[in-house]
Amino acid sequence: MKLTDKVFLVGGSGYGYSAPGDCNVYLVDCGGALSLVDTGGGRGVPMMLDNIKRMGFDPSTVEVAFITHCHYDHIGGNRALKDATGCKIAAHKAEKEEIETLGELTLYQQALDSGLSFEPTSVDISLSDERVLEVREAVFRVIHTPGHTPGGISILHEEEGVRNLFVGDTASAQGRLGYVNAIGYSHDDWKSSIKKILDVNPDRLFPGHGTFALSGVMDCLKVLDGKWNAPWINIVTEVG
Ligand SMILES: [Zn+2]
Ligand SMILES: [Zn+2]
Repeated sequence: MKLTDKVFLVGGSGYGYSAPGDCNVYLVDCGGALSLVDTGGGRGVPMMLDNIKRMGFDPSTVEVAFITHCHYDHIGGNRALKDATGCKIAAHKAEKEEIETLGELTLYQQALDSGLSFEPTSVDISLSDERVLEVREAVFRVIHTPGHTPGGISILHEEEGVRNLFVGDTASAQGRLGYVNAIGYSHDDWKSSIKKILDVNPDRLFPGHGTFALSGVMDCLKVLDGKWNAPWINIVTEVG
């Protein structure tokens, strides 16, 4: 599904677009090479590969899969996608080991409970805040946005002056709060990360679940920021 000139949706159970358990999986056309953002929950990889082909691309040109955070629904396709495309897996250094061992932070037991299972693989590129990665003509800037998990990242990609931001589960485009209280969750870090995202001033928002926003992003984010800073009782009752 083509979302912008350079950004495509190639997986996402919320759209019935790949398999149950998949987060949104985005493909970025880097000009002769491709990058992915997240890899889903594992079962959707064959469908994602088909979707990449249907978009007119060659899966063997996927160079990097950025992992926004270590939850199983974002890392489950790492091994199968690496095997199929030869891509490198890039994740924040704080979650490298968790992803490689399917540790507690990945919530892998939840995956097993919901009928998903997958093999882990190595993280090839260890990321940290402000790291800039170039893939052909595309430039990706890593922004460390912990809170949902300790090594959560957002990825900024500029497309002809328009700022695309991939945020994983740190922000939604509908002002909806994400999954709080999982192992590794930090309320204060999450609040700071929303401020950090606001500072980036993105034009388009590509979250890990739900719909994306191609305009009016700052308004969505301000609603979210307001909720994070409201008394907790309001947050709980106003989720929507
Ligand atoms: Zn998550
Ligand atoms: Zn998720």
